[in-house]
Amino acid sequence: VQSVAQDFDFFYFVLQWPGAYCDSRNSCCYPKTGKPAADFGIHGLWPNYKTGGWPQNCNPDSEFDELRVSDLMSNLQREWPTLSCPSNDGVKFWTHEWEKHGTCAESELDQHDYFEAGLKLKQKANLLHALTNAGIKPDDKFYEIKDIEKAIKEAIGFAPGMECNKDSSHNSQLYQIYLCVDTSASNFINCPVMPHGRCDSRVQFPKF
Ligand code: 5GP
Ligand code: 5GP
Ligand code: 5GP
Repeated sequence: VQSVAQDFDFFYFVLQWPGAYCDSRNSCCYPKTGKPAADFGIHGLWPNYKTGGWPQNCNPDSEFDELRVSDLMSNLQREWPTLSCPSNDGVKFWTHEWEKHGTCAESELDQHDYFEAGLKLKQKANLLHALTNAGIKPDDKFYEIKDIEKAIKEAIGFAPGMECNKDSSHNSQLYQIYLCVDTSASNFINCPVMPHGRCDSRVQFPKF
């Protein structure tokens, strides 16, 4: 019996803070559907190897098809908004995420279920709630990165990976949070390997 090659070991579920995306280059564009909520938005659900690398662009024949996610469209616009310029409706971002990352998880999830899984994970993580409950708010103030990690770990049960970027005054600011997820894309797990984000010990949580 031939064994099936393992496609990937786990997912990084990556959420972005829009205030940090927009600050870092003093530029971002709101999607055509309007300014996103002051909440974490989904960046992607990325198949990964436990050794740290990852597969990408796994199936050039599998194109993003809006019709397959039509029932999810208003949730995608709200929870998975694009901030890239020029302003657009988000299809470009979702196409990129599907083609680069989603196609590498097709053994587990079809296109509809891939995007639906991202939406469900965002709801389950409820990151902004976890942080504000711990007194950590997007108010342009600085917070200990350890306190941010602790608040998320206490709420979700697993330590997150943190990525920061710099604003125009070179302050380290909270940009992306990585949560590790099992191959069924439904449960958070301990990260087999942490992403290589850099954050100072104190980081700004910018307003949006
Ligand atoms: P691309 O469109 O080529 O995928 O990505 C555009 C560039 O934006 C990439 O080089 C990406 O790494 C970069 N980028 C990374 N972080 C940020 C950020 O916080 N804000 C902005 N505006 N771009 C970023
Ligand atoms: P950056 O160089 O801006 O950190 O990342 C650029 C792109 O590389 C991301 O948008 C993502 O598609 C991919 N990428 C970066 N780090 C990881 C990772 O640890 N795992 C996976 N699966 N993709 C990553
Ligand atoms: P990645 O390759 O890291 O998965 O995704 C980054 C790509 O998505 C870049 O080409 C970037 O220009 C595009 N993109 C479109 N909208 C966004 C957004 O809101 N945030 C980020 N980080 N990238 C976006």
